[in-house]
Amino acid sequence: MPAPIKYPELQSKEWLHHHYIELEYSLSMIADKLGCDITTVGDGLKRTGVPARSLNDPIVQKQISKFNVGRHVSEYTRRRLREKLSGRKIGPLSDETKAKLSRANRKFTDEEEFSIIRAYKEGNSARIVAGQYGCSFYTVYAILRRRDIPRRRGNWKGGISFLLYSSEFNESRKERVRNRDGRECQMCGMTEKASLGEWKQRLNVHHIDHDKINCDEFNLIALCKHCNSLANFPQDAWMFALMELQLSRFGLLNRDAS
Ligand SMILES: [Zn+2]
Repeated sequence: MPAPIKYPELQSKEWLHHHYIELEYSLSMIADKLGCDITTVGDGLKRTGVPARSLNDPIVQKQISKFNVGRHVSEYTRRRLREKLSGRKIGPLSDETKAKLSRANRKFTDEEEFSIIRAYKEGNSARIVAGQYGCSFYTVYAILRRRDIPRRRGNWKGGISFLLYSSEFNESRKERVRNRDGRECQMCGMTEKASLGEWKQRLNVHHIDHDKINCDEFNLIALCKHCNSLANFPQDAWMFALMELQLSRFGLLNRDAS
């Protein structure tokens, strides 16, 4: 007798289409509804052929902006994250990253928010503006979202931010991230030693938000070759799972009242 299917909803294209596409549930919301892991939901989409949302999708952008303006995190998700993190050795953060994180939650007055919007509208990237105002770029995006200011897309890569940030993804930064992550894949726990044995390569350093220019250490995480290739599909599922992991490990998660 075959084993019973654990999450029959995730075998059903109709169910997934209804919740994910029509009702605009996020993968996190579906995972919480079913009591499974976010990546299991991602696998369900892939299996049933329901298209995952791209990063540019307004629904995904809305979810991203929620990271800095309060986000419901269910007890199940928090428990899963604690499980993932338990027994993991997290190395010390650089002073630069610590300073960034301590400012990440900064609140602004209306006047300050308007001047942030002005700086962004003048053509500065969200990262540049964030640097000027001492906050995270998530905060800048959250402000734009809240004030209904459309984000520029695709055309800012030729700007100064490209020159400033693309060079940051160098070997020493990658090494710092690998050390911070205990030289273990942060999804499956594979050690770098095992990776060298299996594929003759060190751990990959993955850009969580898939923006190769965003080399903030918060956005970088050590993954083995296998998990790194998984992390490219479906993009939003992995991005949110890994963002949650980062937010949790840096003490930025858990904003809900419960
Ligand atoms: Zn792995």
